[in-house]
Amino acid sequence: MSGPVTSADVDADAAAGVAAPPEVEISDSRDALVGALRVRRALPRRERRTVGAWCFLDHAGPLTLTPDAARGVGIGPHPHMGLQTVTWVITGELLHRDSLGSEQPIRAGQLNLMTAGHGVVHAEDDTGGSREFHIVQLWVAQPSTTRDGPAAFEHHGGLPRGEFGGATATVLIGELDELRSPARRDTDHLGVDVDLHGEATLPLRGDCEHALVVTSGSLSVEGRTVEPGHLAYLGLGRDQVTLSPSREGRARALVVGGVPFAERITMWWNYVARTREEITAAHREWTARTERFPVVPSSSPPVDVPPPPWDTV
Ligand code: MN
Repeated sequence: MSGPVTSADVDADAAAGVAAPPEVEISDSRDALVGALRVRRALPRRERRTVGAWCFLDHAGPLTLTPDAARGVGIGPHPHMGLQTVTWVITGELLHRDSLGSEQPIRAGQLNLMTAGHGVVHAEDDTGGSREFHIVQLWVAQPSTTRDGPAAFEHHGGLPRGEFGGATATVLIGELDELRSPARRDTDHLGVDVDLHGEATLPLRGDCEHALVVTSGSLSVEGRTVEPGHLAYLGLGRDQVTLSPSREGRARALVVGGVPFAERITMWWNYVARTREEITAAHREWTARTERFPVVPSSSPPVDVPPPPWDTV
């Protein structure tokens, strides 16, 4: 079985009018711990570092929390650089605080978008307001044009929503058909929540690569079954994709996509950079608590980790 065609193949085939969509490529997410919380990490993978500018994708829950466990879903103050955090709440509630002074609860159906630029610190705490917890957190790599720029924060309490056959699609970032998210974009990328109650065909852009994770239920795409804990990579060169719920008649998924990210990134811990030296410098500043990374209030302590393995001075 062949993997997805290269972008060169797609261009050549498209020019000849014989483009066939690439095969769906399914990989397992890996289990990771964020504080005390177990998550399914779909990106990055060794074989798949980015999808468009999306470089990180964690799916946590659904969980019903005991009061003790609820404290464990919070994460104390920690730094970021060179990326945007995209937090999408399916059920539950979190309180976001950051070094810009933002203090923003986020609830089901809402989006938080934090741009780190040269540096930002944030914390996400349990609010005590909900025992149900089901979220997706993603990172978007910032392009060189903005990655050294100022930090920023946006909250979107309502997002554009539309019906596509048997699906309700909510556009978190980017554009789907006539629907356009108000959220900031520094690159040409897309994030869509798809709530399936029947077969649905979504329009896609052939110059973008796409992937999806299932957040509940299971669905079928081109005869392949996708469940939570998988990343289904759809490749480049598709102008649509058809999804159908495979059990219980319902499924929910997050579709991400974008123009392939043109810059080679280096990621370590909470930083996205181009060189190890940039990461070393940022991490020394966080560890020293310089003004680049001011600590913010939180019910959890600041998060510290040892220096990167190459920083042996
Ligand atoms: Mn974070």
